Amino acid sequence: MSAVHPLGTLDALQFDNSFVNTLPADQIIDTNSRPVDKACFSPVEPLPFPGAKLVAYSREMAQELGLSPLECESERFVKIFSGTELLPGMQSYASCYGGHQFGNWAGQLGDGRAINLGEVVSKKGQRWALQLKGSGPTPYSRNADGFAVLRSSVREFLCSEAMYHLRVPTTRALSLLTTGAEVERDMFYNGNPQMEPGAIVCRVAPTFIRFGNFELFTSRNQTDILRQLADYTIRYFFPHLGKPDKEVYLQWFNEVCRLTARLITEWMRVGFVHGVMNTDNMSIIGQTIDYGPYGWLEDYDPYWTPNTTDAQGRRYAFGKQPEIAHWNLSRLANAIYPLIEDVPALEQALALYEESYQIAWRDMMTSKLGLLAFDHDIDELLFQDLMRNLKNGSIDMTLFFRNLGNLDISTSNNHQSLDQFMHMLSDVSYLEKMDSQLEQSFRDWFLRYCERSKQDPRPADGRRKQMHAVNPLYVLRNYLAQEAIEAAEQGDNKLLHELHEVLKDPYTEQQGKERFTRKRPDWALNKAGCSMLSCSS
Ligand code: AMP
Ligand code: MG
Repeated sequence: MSAVHPLGTLDALQFDNSFVNTLPADQIIDTNSRPVDKACFSPVEPLPFPGAKLVAYSREMAQELGLSPLECESERFVKIFSGTELLPGMQSYASCYGGHQFGNWAGQLGDGRAINLGEVVSKKGQRWALQLKGSGPTPYSRNADGFAVLRSSVREFLCSEAMYHLRVPTTRALSLLTTGAEVERDMFYNGNPQMEPGAIVCRVAPTFIRFGNFELFTSRNQTDILRQLADYTIRYFFPHLGKPDKEVYLQWFNEVCRLTARLITEWMRVGFVHGVMNTDNMSIIGQTIDYGPYGWLEDYDPYWTPNTTDAQGRRYAFGKQPEIAHWNLSRLANAIYPLIEDVPALEQALALYEESYQIAWRDMMTSKLGLLAFDHDIDELLFQDLMRNLKNGSIDMTLFFRNLGNLDISTSNNHQSLDQFMHMLSDVSYLEKMDSQLEQSFRDWFLRYCERSKQDPRPADGRRKQMHAVNPLYVLRNYLAQEAIEAAEQGDNKLLHELHEVLKDPYTEQQGKERFTRKRPDWALNKAGCSMLSCSS
């Protein structure tokens, strides 16, 4: 009989490694970069980092897994989540996938700097795959090193947890550690490599399977492995669809389309720009995955991208995300075509994506503006005009919607609220001054909005509550993440911890935390890390 371990301890974690126990494995055991054929994963061990130190952990994620705070603060926790020691029951591996990068088929990619430890099944019966990002080379590392630096790890840790608390579907982060080793990075690919502190994030998700996992096997004409992977995915993550057959594969694709539509709507709601929506960065369960050169909209601009690698084409700019998700879903449709062999049905599902996105987007905008229900005749134009004004006025998106909710527009005195509105606008604009034409356009818009809101019989408080529940006050502003990184690089994690805490309750005004609501300061406008990021991490 196995020993009984106290609740909350690492030893009490129950592993059930369905991925490695169901799917075909690479038969070669070495970490040299190479093509891996006829396999969904390669067994790989993380490198040990005896000098690792805990920087932060997520109490909420630990609790989901069944780990107590005491355990998370133990030396053993650091050993396990730096990859220095494996728990009994863990089977570590890197998974094999391909993908389209910036619109082009890139062939095999795979977990080049991520090593999976196994799947915990929690007391609630939830499956959680644990993955270390930055734990050393794998057969998929190509010409890179398999490591991650502190700056990108802080960004992933803080942002994925912030997204969870914003109610945006996302992978989670359990822990953030420094490895004690340095890593060389040429941050801007300009021939100026620097040594930076290495770090490891333990990411957590029901599964890390991406669109690119399916694409790879189809590109190699390996329909048998494609089918095994699809059957596995349906059995574990879409079990309500039942036993896989052609019809079920199709229903599954329809569901992935719906989940993706919901995901993108949520990004658009909170002003999140992923930055690298390659098909290897699209989760099959519709979660935000792979936090790299992402960014948060400051001034509302559909063309904005935080990713310097994408500065030319702006393929992954804020306003392009819905269209790119559709393109990525088309790549997935091609990949699973051999299982379905019905082009019209796949096209119909893709059309469903567009339709469900449209509906979800307008419902989302309706609630952001505190309206009770979408009125096609009025609201379509109301939304379009608002977005144009926000863009022209260089208006901070987060502060605009939040402050709009604070205005009392139920009074019959529209002029008083109009004054308040115009005053608020000048506070949240990044322009020195708006021209009179734009001011007039905002005035017109606001009066139409007041008129429209009069159809709402609720007291002002009801409208405000609705708006505040979908318009966050605290988001991980690009400059705030950068400030936390710079302090952490000097060994001071206070700001990082404070940000982590504040972002756990993003819809509630928190006393003494005004600093985290401020619009971008001038110094951050063109600073590396704040508005310019590259894929190099
Ligand atoms: P990403 O830009 O994070 O989506 O990564 C694209 C591909 O490059 C994936 O296969 C990654 O595993 C790989 N990759 C990115 N950075 C590294 C690194 N430092 N070491 C090894 N592989 C990497
Ligand atoms: Mg990736």
